Order: sequence, then C-alpha cells, then structure tokens
Amino acid sequence: MRLKGKVAIVTGATRGIGRAIAVRFGQEGARVAVVGRSEPEGLETVRQIEEAGSEAIFIQADVSDKAQVDAMVQKVLEKWGTIDILVNNAGICPFAEFLDITEELWDRVLDTNLKGYFLCSQAVARVMIEKGVKGRIIAVSSISSEFGGRQQAHYCASKAGINLLIKSMAIALGPYGITCNAVLPGTVETDINRHVLAQPEVRAYWEKRAPLGGIGRPEDIAGPVLFFASDDASWCTGSMLVVDGGTSVFLQ
Ligand code: NAP
Repeated sequence: MRLKGKVAIVTGATRGIGRAIAVRFGQEGARVAVVGRSEPEGLETVRQIEEAGSEAIFIQADVSDKAQVDAMVQKVLEKWGTIDILVNNAGICPFAEFLDITEELWDRVLDTNLKGYFLCSQAVARVMIEKGVKGRIIAVSSISSEFGGRQQAHYCASKAGINLLIKSMAIALGPYGITCNAVLPGTVETDINRHVLAQPEVRAYWEKRAPLGGIGRPEDIAGPVLFFASDDASWCTGSMLVVDGGTSVFLQ
C-alpha cells in the first residue's frame, strides 16, 4: 500500500502500459482517474482497479485539447478534492517513412505525445501548488527519445522533447516540492506495436536485442513508475530511468 490515500491521474490508461500503471496504483491503495478516449476500455480499467480493492473513475478526454484537459482536472477535483500524482502516458506511434510524414501526421503525433504532456502537467501543477501538495509528475517517455528509429522521426522527436520538458519542469516545480521524472521503456508489446511485432523477423530481432531476453510486458513498466510516485523517490527529480531489459546498452 505504498500509495495509500493518494489521488492519481493516469493518462492513456484505457489499455497497454497506462492500464498496467493504473491497476498497479490501485493495488497500492491509490484512487485513480483513468483518462483516455475509449469509454469501454476505460471502464474495463476501472473494473480492474475496483477488483483490486480501490476506487477509480473513467474520464473521457483527448489530452491534446486544452479545454478537455482542464475539464478532466476539474472532474478529478470535484470527485476527490486534490491531486497527488500525474502520470503522463497517453501516446501514439503511427509508423511512417520520413518522406511520407505529412504535416497533419506530424502535428497529430506532437500534439498528443508532447503538447498533451505539457497541457496535463501545467494544469495539474497549478492545482498542486494552489493546494500545497508536494506532488509527483511522471512521464512515460521512450528509449526512442535517445536513439533515432526507422519510421519514427515524428515519434522520436516528440519523445526527445518530453525528456527536456520534464527536466525543465523539474527546475520550475522543485521549489514547490513537486518532483518530475521520466521512465524510458524499451519495446513492450501493446496495441501500439502489435502489428509490427507480428512479423516474425521483427519479433526475433527485438527478442535478441535485449540482454535480459524477450520483449517487455506493460507490468514491467508499472513498477518503475510506482517507484517515482512513492516516498522512496522523494529526492529524485529530473531523472530519466531506462527500463528496457538492457536493449540500449547492447550494440549489435
Ligand atoms: P497503447 O496500448 O496504444 O496505449 C496508448 C494509450 O494512449 C491508450 O490508452 C490510448 O487511449 C491513449 N491515447 C492515445 N491518444 C490519446 C489522446 N489524444 N488522448 C487521450 N488518450 C490517448 O500503447 P502503449 O504502448 O501502452 O503506450 C503508452 C505509452 O508508452 C506511450 O506514451 C508510448 O509512447 C510509450 N512507450 C511504449 C513503448 C512500447 O513498446 N509499447 C515503448 C516506449 C514507450 P484511447 O485510444 O482510449 O484514447
């Protein structure tokens, strides 16, 4: 029960890594606002948190839209009166060759992955400061923030932006006792990449790349995010924690 009584928002918690984080937070005693666009999938995450013995609500919101983000934060305040933890996780990766990335696609990726993290962080930080909460803001970035990737120029640029957004937020929000950290996952099988990992040669490549073997599960990312949300990480801010089974230290 490392988050007993805390109020947490997890964006992109309708599926994948976000759902695993939200459910883990629920198991640790947090009350969780599950944010995303798909209601049936969001309600399934709520059900799993309730089954784990905690409280949860689903809030439908597009994180790239300021009005929807502000309304989402307001709903959390109406329900629980405060916010202790924000996990920025909602993201998309529509694979495309560099020469095929249209302006519309570029904007959609940057608006979701980078602007969405900014909008949610600013709205929540304002609440934390007003209420004197020494809160936790955590970003799910990617090892793609440090390395270029095939068909991922827009995605890699958005993730690199997240890292420096988080470091700059750590400077701005440190005086209020608010910590800002990022987790950088390697390849984790979810809806974002399932169709790519279905190709046997791609799957074999990623399985071989990680010294710890295999491809990560969403639950492998939930623990490191929990660490930053917990009291154990009270002196961590601006940290970038790579969680990739060793993929990025293995040159081959
Ligand atoms: P996923 O299963 O496709 O989940 C993405 C989540 O983001 C969904 O819950 C989706 O919910 C939500 N989302 C997307 N656009 C949104 C928007 N505009 N507003 C609100 N919610 C939105 O993918 P995932 O792998 O779990 O990805 C989660 C995070 O991990 C992303 O930031 C991703 O970049 C990062 N990551 C993933 C991997 C990996 O290998 N899987 C590796 C490194 C980093 P709705 O569709 O319901 O809105």
